[in-house]
Amino acid sequence: MARPLVAQIDLAALGHNLALAKRLAGTARVLAVVKANAYGHGLLRAARALRAADGFAVLTLDEASQLRSEGYSHPIVLLEGFFQPDELPEIARRRLQPVIHREDQAEILIRAKLEHRLDIFVKVDTGMRRLGLPPTRLRDVLFKLRASANIGGITLMSHFARADDPDVGVSAQLATFRAATAGLDLPVTLANSAALMGYPESHGDWVRPGIMLYGSSPLMGTTGLELGLLPVMSLRSQLIAVQSVRKGEGVGYGARFVAPRDMRVGIVACGYADGYPRHADTGTPVLVEGQRARTLGRVSMDMLHVDLSEAVHAHIGSPVTLWGDALSVDEVAAASGTVGYELLTALASRVRVEET
Ligand SMILES: *Cc1c(COP(=O)(O)O)cnc(C)c1O
Repeated sequence: MARPLVAQIDLAALGHNLALAKRLAGTARVLAVVKANAYGHGLLRAARALRAADGFAVLTLDEASQLRSEGYSHPIVLLEGFFQPDELPEIARRRLQPVIHREDQAEILIRAKLEHRLDIFVKVDTGMRRLGLPPTRLRDVLFKLRASANIGGITLMSHFARADDPDVGVSAQLATFRAATAGLDLPVTLANSAALMGYPESHGDWVRPGIMLYGSSPLMGTTGLELGLLPVMSLRSQLIAVQSVRKGEGVGYGARFVAPRDMRVGIVACGYADGYPRHADTGTPVLVEGQRARTLGRVSMDMLHVDLSEAVHAHIGSPVTLWGDALSVDEVAAASGTVGYELLTALASRVRVEET
């Protein structure tokens, strides 16, 4: 029998989450963010389920080229623009829309010999301190870009650092953006999933949802389901052994868990080499035969331990859900000190994928 670990991808859930994003976006158009292999779900698989989006956003030229080769004619945005000038001919040929986030990128683009004008995004840093022109340089750079025969449409862009935190939100960055762009009559894109869900005033002309499309929550302390999102990936496996552990015996590497009494312990075919977080400590939730149980001790490369104290009928072959439809990836992430983004994008290539 094949190893029982499988990531089931629910394409209808992707469609549902996109529909919710579109509803929330109102008149703004939706760029579906499919970078990082569509957050671990498979770029082309996700694109198929998201083709009703108004455009796609990716990181690399390779991802964008894959989408074009499959026949997608949507606007495709390169979120970090070009990394090397030699990417520009293909960017033009494929009609991709690079983000220009540094002044020297603008200069290179202006000097390039292109077959036609490029539509571009010009990013301004309003407080994230990652990518983007300083607000004080925006107007000069725009002036030069607008004068260039290489440039077609320009959309202004920024990115929020704290939209996920309801105690902070987006207002300071939004004010900085408005001041930096006052009087410029150009379309705007600001909102990631958190801002799309929480701050309608930030929507602008294009919104850029990523994580919410995959059913995981963009907001601190909230699960995707609580926000009306449906989980797309369910990571499922089975028990491949059951141990009767005596009181006082250690379990797993480092004997990090010591049995406080005699107990049955299940061994699940899923470990950190599959993308399950090694930092998940004893007590991380997991479902055995649909019932909540907890992990025990340290996660191994290919396996992990679960407490079968409540799952009295569990046996070799019993189904286990690591995260997914009945157990939010956000809850597993919180228990292991990370976010759903990291768990989903870390799914290892050795994990079999099934579409449902
Ligand atoms: C990844 C990314 C997004 C999507 O963010 P989510 O939090 O996943 O919605 C939006 N904009 C930019 C610039 C990004 O890099």
